[in-house]
Formats: sequence, C-alpha cells, structure tokens
Amino acid sequence: MSYLFPTYARWDVEVEKAKGSYLYDTSGKTYLDFVQGIAVCNLGHQPELVKEAILKQLEEVWHVSNLFHIPAQEELAKKLVESSCGDAVFFANSGAEANEAAIKLARKHTNKHKIITFHQSFHGRTYATMTATAQKKVHEGFGPLAPTFEYLPYNDIDAVEAIDDYQIAAIMLEVIQGEGGVIPAAPEFLQAVEKKCRKIGALLIVDEVQTGIGRTGKAFAYEHYGIEPDIITLAKGLGSGFPIGAMIGKKELIESFSAGSHGSTFGGNPLAVVSAKATVDEIFIESFLQEVQKKGNWMKQQLMERLKGNHLVKEIRGKGLMIGIELHTEVVSLLADLRNRGLLALLAGPNVIRLLPSLTVTYDELKKAAEILEKTIHAYSLDHSLR
Ligand SMILES: *Cc1c(COP(=O)(O)O)cnc(C)c1O
Repeated sequence: MSYLFPTYARWDVEVEKAKGSYLYDTSGKTYLDFVQGIAVCNLGHQPELVKEAILKQLEEVWHVSNLFHIPAQEELAKKLVESSCGDAVFFANSGAEANEAAIKLARKHTNKHKIITFHQSFHGRTYATMTATAQKKVHEGFGPLAPTFEYLPYNDIDAVEAIDDYQIAAIMLEVIQGEGGVIPAAPEFLQAVEKKCRKIGALLIVDEVQTGIGRTGKAFAYEHYGIEPDIITLAKGLGSGFPIGAMIGKKELIESFSAGSHGSTFGGNPLAVVSAKATVDEIFIESFLQEVQKKGNWMKQQLMERLKGNHLVKEIRGKGLMIGIELHTEVVSLLADLRNRGLLALLAGPNVIRLLPSLTVTYDELKKAAEILEKTIHAYSLDHSLR
C-alpha cells in the first residue's frame, strides 16, 4: 500500500542510483535513461561541476528570503539575459509557476485579460496554467476553469490571421509542443503569431520549460525561428534536477512588476540558482550546442534507416535531442517493452515515443538506444499484424 495520492501511473522501477546516461534499480537492472527526469537532467545524472557548485553553496547559505540581495541570483539572471532576447528575470520553482508569472505580468502590463493558447499544449497544473493547457483530459472535473483563456488549433496560420480582438493580453505557446506529441511549429505559423501580437498589442509568451536550456541544440528553441518573444519561461532543464523556474521578460515589461506585485518564498533559492548557473555555464557554449544538433540529426537518421518500411511507424521528428517517433498505434505497452530491454523513454500524446536523452549522451549510447528501439518496434509490429 502507498501513502501517496495516486497522481502518477508509476512504472515498475525503483531507482537506487543514477549517473550520466544510466539508471540503476534496486533489483540490479541497468537502464539507458532517455527520460532524464523529463528533460530535467540535461547534463546527465550527477554532473560534476553542478555537484561542486551545490556542495560549495551548502557550506555557505541554504536559504534567505528575497528581502535580501542574493548575488548568485544576479549572476544567473545576467547569464540568462545575455543569452536571450530578454532583459530581466523573475525566479520561481517550477514551470507552472514561471507560466503563472508570465500570465500575471501580461495581464498587468497590457491591462487586458484574454490569453490565447493552442490545442494539445501543456503549460502546467496550477489553476491558471491548467486552464492554459488546451487539453480536455487535464481539465476534467476541475471546472469552472480560470476565465478568459481561448484556444486555437496549433500550426493553423488562418486561425491566427483571423484574430480580430484587441482584448488579448498575450498569445502563449511552445515552439515544439512536448507533452502534446513532440510537434514542431511551422516557421510561418510562428511568424504569423508574432506579427499578430505586434498588430493587436498582445505579448508573445514562449513556454520554453521543456525546449529551453540546450535541449533542441540552441540555448532556447525560439532561436531556430527568428522570432523575438516578449516573455520566455523556463524550468525543467535549468537546474539539472534542483527545482527552479524562471521568467525572462523584455525591458518594457520591467516596470509592470513592482515590490509586492508578485513573489515566491523559495523562488531563486541560493542552492537552486548556483545549480542553474553551473548548468547553463556548461550548456550555453556554441560548440556544445552544435554538438547537440549533430547528435540529434545523427540519431534521427539512425532511426529512419532502422525503422524504414515498418508499417507501424508514421513519422520521426523533433529538433536536437528532443525526438518523437509517431506510430499508427498507442505506445504505452511498447514503452514497457523498451524498459524490459533496458531503455527508458516517454510518451507524448497517445501515439508518440518521446526521447529526451542527456545532452552529453555519447554516440555509443545513442546507437545502443537505436538498436533497442529497432528490435522492440519490429517485434511489436509483428505482434500487431498477427492480431
Ligand atoms: C513540464 C512543463 C510545464 C510544467 O512544469 P512543472 O515544473 O511541472 O510545473 C510547463 N510547460 C511545459 C512546456 C512543460 O513541458
């Protein structure tokens, strides 16, 4: 019996130890980890420099209130600002909280209230971010939802061009939908969204909670598209496993949050910000990011060659080391087959296998994963055609 609320359909794996690309369970089994805490451990498990930064901070100060100046926050904020199109940072503890801050800031700054989001998006589980998440299954039983969120179809340029409403505070989106199925935005769609935002005086909020921090081979995924968000939100990969979220905003927005407008007891905690600073110092380096793109392209190529002609495989897509394999069937039980063969992978939407390896993954590890995927998907497809 468990003392926990059953909010997760947990796998039959009890983790004992984790290092780099590998997880070791209590039964002695080793797994190649292509989940990495859901795009959290972007440097793999226990990256040395992050560990050193946390250990050093542990000896100095664990927590002080944001009523104090915290130099490590300034250092991390400076790095995030210098690496993005934003100018100031607010620290929170999670992706949902970063998005809450973005929604509040957009409403306060524009003095408008509507927020547009897109079908099969994912923005979090709090009241406002659950409402922002345009997925029925996430809303079920929790109504009435937060007011004035409206949903449009993703990648639908006509729907964006048809917006004719000046009460919109912000349009919020993921440039590659993660939970929704590893669905990249079409560049023309993002450009249409940006143009519409400028026209109607709405802010463009890009939720980079999953795509940020090098995951797609750029520091932030919006950089692939030549757009300039007004607000960027971050969490997952930012702290290498130490909980931290962040909202980066443009300078025009800074004055809209004053003392008392918004806050968080733990946001920007010293241990969290030093782990994040050590993380981005390693990842925000051009040669590192290029290597992520190279490894991602190599892996996609491997998968395409190995899975070519398989009737179950619909599409292989993604950017950098955020890769989705869409099948013509549900993949839940296939993920269990992968685990049995030693590979941990995730679901995205009902039909997509999502791969989120460490950005430091080696070609050998990628090859091993590709082999397991090939064997497992082929076995699964034989099984399927027999029925
Ligand atoms: C995971 C995720 C969130 C929510 O982050 P939490 O830290 O779980 O609150 C928000 N947006 C996107 C795109 C995510 O992938």
